[in-house]
Amino acid sequence: MIVGGGFGGLALAKNLKNAPVDVLMLDKHNYHTFQPLLYQVAIGSIAADSIGFPIRRIFTKFDNFTFNMAEVQKINPESNTLTTNIGEIHYDYLVIATGSNSNFFGNKQIEHFAMPMKNIPEALNLRSLILQNLETALVTADMREKFALMTYVVVGGGPTGVELSGALAEMRHMILMKDYHGLSKYDMRVYLVEGKDRLLATMSPQASAKAKQFLTHDEVTIYNSAHVQSYDGFYLTIDNGKTIKTRNVFWAAGVIGEMPGGIPAEIITKGNRIQTDEANRVKGCQNIFAIGDVSSMITENYPAGLPGVAPVAIQQGEWLAKNLVHLIKGESTVPFKYHDKGTLATIGRNKAVADLDKLHFQGFFAWILWGVVHLMSLAGFSNKGMVFLTWVINYFNKNSDNRLVVRYFNTETREMSNDSNDPGRSSRC
Ligand SMILES: Cc1cc2nc3c(=O)[nH]c(=O)nc-3n(C[C@H](O)[C@H](O)[C@H](O)COP(=O)(O)OP(=O)(O)OC[C@H]3O[C@@H](n4cnc5c(N)ncnc54)[C@H](O)[C@@H]3O)c2cc1C
Repeated sequence: MIVGGGFGGLALAKNLKNAPVDVLMLDKHNYHTFQPLLYQVAIGSIAADSIGFPIRRIFTKFDNFTFNMAEVQKINPESNTLTTNIGEIHYDYLVIATGSNSNFFGNKQIEHFAMPMKNIPEALNLRSLILQNLETALVTADMREKFALMTYVVVGGGPTGVELSGALAEMRHMILMKDYHGLSKYDMRVYLVEGKDRLLATMSPQASAKAKQFLTHDEVTIYNSAHVQSYDGFYLTIDNGKTIKTRNVFWAAGVIGEMPGGIPAEIITKGNRIQTDEANRVKGCQNIFAIGDVSSMITENYPAGLPGVAPVAIQQGEWLAKNLVHLIKGESTVPFKYHDKGTLATIGRNKAVADLDKLHFQGFFAWILWGVVHLMSLAGFSNKGMVFLTWVINYFNKNSDNRLVVRYFNTETREMSNDSNDPGRSSRC
């Protein structure tokens, strides 16, 4: 039983293809999400469908694989069952691969008003908000409101925050005055707020410095060593003394493990992750395993746990497939070793940073490499083709065709609606 069809869950199921096991995968969505390109959906560069792929389609040719769309609510280790929204399900071996969710550090007000970007529906919320705020900015007579609608604050200077703020800056330079006649790019502001003293803190100092240089050149205002204190939907306060009036706050400041109930509290560690041993076995359990973002595997080289990135989830999924076969044969498991192939982050057109082992480079070649790696990693031939073609068209047009407000994001209810009247806006001015 695999709960979660993300990077880890898919890698595990694929590697069990010829194993003497029956695999049942449960996921609350019927598709896999390629999270690294969510920001391009949010900014309207590529279509939402091109970064999701139906899980059933991936396993068409697998005889030992079954999928059910179901949300797991609780794990019951004492009876080897799961409580789900489609009923109670038995397992022999359970693998938890449920990933992570946005971390608002307990601040309920920020959680209510800021926009997270962890899945396709949330990326579409961002897309609608960005675009509907520009439409409103065009027609509002209130200058204070107009600037707030055109001010974008990205919180978190990791790869996601850097990529999103870079894409917003690019939209200001290339698209705003071309398509939104009446709006000036000088009225649109992009801020990036990061708690650490440098951007891309998990990458090399060279990559951090270059990312900052690229973003500063594109007129993104960067606040380092700064923490957002509050946001009420209009005023955002930061502990460096700044207050920004904005209708657009995008949250990329961190993640916490996402898991169903039933996991004993004593094995849930920092970041809401489940402690495992080096074979991904959940501490204190015989037949329950956890992989990817939801797991915390502490090793000699990674005393704070392995990083929450796709390669860790994929490699753990592949490795666990081997270990499960060992277990079924009555053999002992082999400890997992993470092979870090490097990190890439893009800042915009022709601009990216790359750390590959001891090799650090930035600019056009890093950008090409980022594109190739992301295209190759996308699930589905049609998605690869669609994204590649869209990128080529966007590159030469210096524009994009996916800027649709299909449904409105209601800033009061925080949900999508077909109603263009937003009751929350005027009352919060
Ligand atoms: C915006 C963004 C950009 C990123 N960019 C990069 C990048 O460039 N490079 C990189 O290496 N990593 C990147 N990451 C991190 C990477 O996406 C994660 O590390 C990776 O997805 C973890 O894989 P996973 O299998 O653990 O979980 P996920 O891929 O998140 O999959 C978890 C699955 O579990 C399902 N699920 C959750 N709870 C339940 C439940 N209760 N019942 C049923 N199903 C459930 C979810 O629907 C989901 O399909 C990015 C993440 C984000 C959000």
